[in-house]
Amino acid sequence: MSNPVQSSTQPIVTHRPYTHIAKAVVVGDAAVGKTSLLVRYVKGLFNPTYVLTIGVAFNIKDIVVGEHVLRMQIWDTGGQERFGPIRQLYYRGTKGVLLVYDRSSEASFDRIDYWLKEVKKGAGAVPMVLVGNKADLPSKVPAQAARKFAKEHSMFFVETSAKDDTNVDSAFNELAKSILNAVV
Ligand code: GDP
Ligand code: MG
Repeated sequence: MSNPVQSSTQPIVTHRPYTHIAKAVVVGDAAVGKTSLLVRYVKGLFNPTYVLTIGVAFNIKDIVVGEHVLRMQIWDTGGQERFGPIRQLYYRGTKGVLLVYDRSSEASFDRIDYWLKEVKKGAGAVPMVLVGNKADLPSKVPAQAARKFAKEHSMFFVETSAKDDTNVDSAFNELAKSILNAVV
């Protein structure tokens, strides 16, 4: 399948103003690699030490999709239960979601159903991408099971490594495409 989205491995040099703006959120259990994926995507970096994300933070990236330029405001938050009340606010106005689990942790995949329900409650039926991160580590979650789940919920599925920079761009770019498809 050809990918019309420009790769952002190189910074996207565009002087074109954005044509659309949307809020996207990254969710999943603590330590699955949400912050690492975002930092890899937006800054092209990887930090091997775990820094607990407190509260929320967001990053901005302009993504060229055909004749459109989508300005994605990508929100990151801690997956911790104790941030529950913050999370409901965080979903407000969300137009797309990256649902992340850690391929080396079955428990994190089992929790995807929980995250899906929580996000739907807070944001409604918005486009989502299922992401199996840490593809550089031995897998405990069969890709087939994840693919089946994604298909059942009409989501794109991709296995990534924030560490090795594998498929990180395509995860976010697919989300950008789905968000645009929903509005144009
Ligand atoms: P978050 O709690 O979901 O935001 O997770 P972090 O991004 O803070 O990552 C948790 C830990 O997993 C950190 O030690 C990261 O360095 C590590 N990590 C994140 N992504 C990857 C990856 O793709 N591969 C490997 N091997 N480790 C990763
Ligand atoms: Mg984090």
